[in-house]
Amino acid sequence: MIGKRIITQEDINIFLNDGLNSPFKIPSKFSAPISLIWEVTGNCNSNCIYCSGSFPKHINEMKKTDKIKLAKEICDMKVFMISLSGGEPLISHDLLELVNIFIENDVSIMICTSGYRINYSIVDALLRLKKVSFNISIDSINDEINDFQRGRVGALKGALNLIEYIRNNELTDTFISIESVATRKNYSGMTDLVEYFSKNCNVNEIRIQPVVTMNKDVVENELEISKEEFKNCMINVKKFIEEYNSVVSEPSEGYICVRFVDQFKMIKNGLETERTWGGIITPQGEFLLSVYLPSNLGSVFELGTFRETWNKKFSDGWKILKKDSNLSNINCVYDLRKLYVDVL
Ligand code: SF4
Repeated sequence: MIGKRIITQEDINIFLNDGLNSPFKIPSKFSAPISLIWEVTGNCNSNCIYCSGSFPKHINEMKKTDKIKLAKEICDMKVFMISLSGGEPLISHDLLELVNIFIENDVSIMICTSGYRINYSIVDALLRLKKVSFNISIDSINDEINDFQRGRVGALKGALNLIEYIRNNELTDTFISIESVATRKNYSGMTDLVEYFSKNCNVNEIRIQPVVTMNKDVVENELEISKEEFKNCMINVKKFIEEYNSVVSEPSEGYICVRFVDQFKMIKNGLETERTWGGIITPQGEFLLSVYLPSNLGSVFELGTFRETWNKKFSDGWKILKKDSNLSNINCVYDLRKLYVDVL
């Protein structure tokens, strides 16, 4: 059968464990973030039921001059990787200028987009730069289900069009990953999504994560997924991968990686080690340690520059957050709802 061979997190772990025999010591505190997510705009064309931040946000977005200042500082601090999200970054006119600064300084870029009603002249310019990866949100290959969750008729079509457009117009191989949020409505169809992209051979990775309940609409629309349901989703997808790989043993089209993401893993690691690897910069220029936690550590320029604010405050972010008693009874990704719906 023609198709991409599917690899999983377990395959990556085996590869990494074999290659990393040296006793590498990780410092307890970093002088700069390793990676960042920057929500460059509060504007968004989508209307996802599970959206964390009430986008589109009518907020005091950072001025372009401040965004450029911040981008240059991030480069000077030698941050390895930055994901540019929103809202919808592909409608932000500031995006290209920021991306150019990062590319000139060899900072890896990933654009996180819905693909819905985006500005294709921005996509064209990004493809000419050759070094940009894309993370595109698709929850289901069934348009009715996908569009319901994403809050817009035509959302799936928009995302698939973007993938096709990138593949038809890229000047070099562009890394594309699919970000998929599993809910009670779509989890049983997750194998269809994996099968679709494995056979179509047009994306490199699929990341599947359970929905985190951060507003009451998720509850009212019965999207919440239980631990058992998500486990079933993983079992079904893994079973499908086994069967699928048995007939694509000689991958003519390369590989596609399917990963299940536990959003709590990073929070647990931060609380246990107090080591801050990075964080999220909001459209108004504030710093969060996780999109799934309500805690806001304040402006990136609070102590003058981002570097200073990082050194004196954000690099100790998990130490600060650990004092928040609300986090003491959060032990897994499914507990995160307690921080939102239980207080509404
Ligand atoms: S695309 Fe992202 S920011 Fe926009 S509504 Fe959906 S989750 Fe929210």
